[in-house]
Amino acid sequence: MEPTKRTEVHRLPERGVYGIDAINAVLDEALICHVGFVAEAGYPVVIPTIHARSGTTLYLHGSPASRMLRSIKAGADVCVTVTLIDGLVLARAVFHHSMNYRSVMVFGNPREVTDPDEKMRALEAITEHVAHGRWADARHPNEIELKGTTVLALNIDESSAKVRTGPPADENEDYDLPIWAGVVPVATAFGSPVDDPVLPDGLEPPGYVTDYRR
Ligand SMILES: Cc1cc2nc3c(=O)[nH]c(=O)nc-3n(C[C@H](O)[C@H](O)[C@H](O)COP(=O)(O)OP(=O)(O)OC[C@H]3O[C@@H](n4cnc5c(N)ncnc54)[C@H](O)[C@@H]3O)c2cc1C
Repeated sequence: MEPTKRTEVHRLPERGVYGIDAINAVLDEALICHVGFVAEAGYPVVIPTIHARSGTTLYLHGSPASRMLRSIKAGADVCVTVTLIDGLVLARAVFHHSMNYRSVMVFGNPREVTDPDEKMRALEAITEHVAHGRWADARHPNEIELKGTTVLALNIDESSAKVRTGPPADENEDYDLPIWAGVVPVATAFGSPVDDPVLPDGLEPPGYVTDYRR
């Protein structure tokens, strides 16, 4: 992807990544995103929410009454941010403490999805993003539920990733200091599924939750 005025990484530009595969991989691995926009009332808001990528489109959904969806439908530009943390970087100097991460920012002006087929496919993508295999098992949205859900589509054509890897980067004169330095790896872990207490007898959790993977 060609960097634009908005997506060119200036601060530590060597960490900037514009390859679509790398951007997609971060969008797909992250369970949630944060959507930044200027709300109808004129002040900035950042809202955590679920997203899903389908090809070159990022889908967001929610109640038609949500401020995010109302503001965006009214024409607000958004900046969607996704962050994966891979490690805590403990340097010798406080100044050089950092994190290893993979993050993505997508800019644009989402459109509301009104075509019923695309809306259903977007809801499938969002469901599958959270639990791959769930769409085939769960009851699909009915007319009322579809009316009660707004879906937005954002083209992933103005986007950047930023990636930090590796050990701390201290000042040369600090490397001999008797201070432990290194990286504490961070990983997201998923536990064993817990049955809904009112589940009828004999229903076992499906494989995609007993062996949940991202
Ligand atoms: C887990 C984590 C912790 C961080 N902690 C800090 C911190 O404590 N202090 C701090 O100043 N910064 C921190 N950063 C880096 C921060 O995200 C910004 O990159 C940095 O603040 C520079 O912002 P800027 O707008 O001045 O950068 P610029 O380089 O001017 O940004 C220009 C463009 O580069 C792209 N870009 C910039 N940052 C990112 C990013 N993180 N992911 C994807 N694209 C990006 C965007 O398209 C952006 O519009 C952290 C990042 C992560 C992921």
